[in-house]
Amino acid sequence: MTLIFSGNDYKYELEGVMKLFIPATLFKHIFADKIEKPEEDYVFARVKEYGSYSLLYVLCSYDGKKARRVCKISAGAEGLDADRELALSRLLFSAMKSITGIDAKWGVITGIRPVKRVNAMLSRGLDKEQVYDILKEKYLCSEEKCDIAYKTAVTQKPVLDNLKGDSFSLYVSVPFCPTRCSYCSFVSQSIEGCMNLIPEYVNKLCNEIEYTAKITSKIGLKLDSVYFGGGTPTTLSAPQLERLMRTIEENFDMSSVREYTVEAGRPDTITEEKLLTLKANGCGRVSINPQTMNDSVLEAIGRKHTTAQFLESFKLARKIGFECINTDIIAGLPTDTFESFKHTVDSLIELAPENITVHTLSIKRAARLNHSEERSVLNNPADRMVEYATKRLLGNGYLPYYLYRQKNMLENLENIGWTKPGYESIYNIYIMEEVQTILAMGAGGSTKLVDMESGRLQRVFNYKFPLEYNKHFELMLKRKNEIEEFYAEKE
Ligand code: SF4
Repeated sequence: MTLIFSGNDYKYELEGVMKLFIPATLFKHIFADKIEKPEEDYVFARVKEYGSYSLLYVLCSYDGKKARRVCKISAGAEGLDADRELALSRLLFSAMKSITGIDAKWGVITGIRPVKRVNAMLSRGLDKEQVYDILKEKYLCSEEKCDIAYKTAVTQKPVLDNLKGDSFSLYVSVPFCPTRCSYCSFVSQSIEGCMNLIPEYVNKLCNEIEYTAKITSKIGLKLDSVYFGGGTPTTLSAPQLERLMRTIEENFDMSSVREYTVEAGRPDTITEEKLLTLKANGCGRVSINPQTMNDSVLEAIGRKHTTAQFLESFKLARKIGFECINTDIIAGLPTDTFESFKHTVDSLIELAPENITVHTLSIKRAARLNHSEERSVLNNPADRMVEYATKRLLGNGYLPYYLYRQKNMLENLENIGWTKPGYESIYNIYIMEEVQTILAMGAGGSTKLVDMESGRLQRVFNYKFPLEYNKHFELMLKRKNEIEEFYAEKE
């Protein structure tokens, strides 16, 4: 598919809109003032300035069909570049909708953080009606998505209001899993192939924690939350987990910590000893993820555990006294059906975890699923599944508290974190809304430095894979100096 730009270079936005309709497509970009008979499908997007107004024109030729759209916007308040870009996106959206018959419910919101826009509108003092009007008219959002975005922003508000400028969170990456799930695109490695890397990895991770703690105490930052993610952190043994947690406790001032989460994602890695270790070392929130309550679906996605194991782990975590348990599920998994997804949602609601995160399957390039015949089994109604989960969770007192979208999500849907009132994960909200510095340790970790006042963001990347993390550790540690530089510039 060729995208031809005339009088504009809105490549990123317009390609984003096209991907809503034809996701797995490669796009070629051309800058030209007229269409030179392209042989394949194309879009011609033109902006022409006429002093007091701009004329926007889109011509789509796709799948043997054509659609044209045109509009005029004044050079006044609407004359800003961003408005022209948005108006052109709307024209393209409307043209592609008429050709394909697809109605993308998020409209022309193509980014991963739709709630950020709503938060910005609320902080400008707009009320619910005004927010809905903008989402519908400017972004072509459906009523359903306006509702979920608005409700999420409302749940987040007190948590965002409680954020302190000198705070930060710690992310500890443990990129190992017992086996690799077919839909996984993370850097996570199955331990079968890299068991021997783990002892050195844990040593280095402890060094990185110590090194970072010195920097944060020099700057005067206060630790707000700790999050162990991955991978599956509970792939590590209880003594290894204890060592990491103790290193954190001995090096950081824990008195300001409001939340401590460990992803114990795979029930096949959970033992009583590990849960007791987590609890004894300050972890109050664990994530135990069934993904589905259907064993045949679990088998189809390569997760080597059963629903019974999930239930057992959940019960154990309750017995040990975790006050907040999160459970992840995924809509649209291979071989799953609407009925079986309903059963997953209903069973979880009955278990009453404090948090339920409803993901929609996203098929990234790196996932095994993307390269296998299993792709053909993705013919389930993810949209209906998400709709059902939303209705049931709202009806049972859960509130949406964070929301994000990824590339290549089935039916252009989203992931939503649901919570019982008062159990919102502050880490999830702050990272998603990009309002707090997150210092990431370990392979695959990406530190995000945030200046709350100016909104300035800077990332510092660790090595991606455990092998290179172990090997080039000293070199990587030097990058941590950027943290100090960032805060020095802020002064
Ligand atoms: S448990 Fe999560 S990180 Fe590990 S392989 Fe499965 S999807 Fe990937």
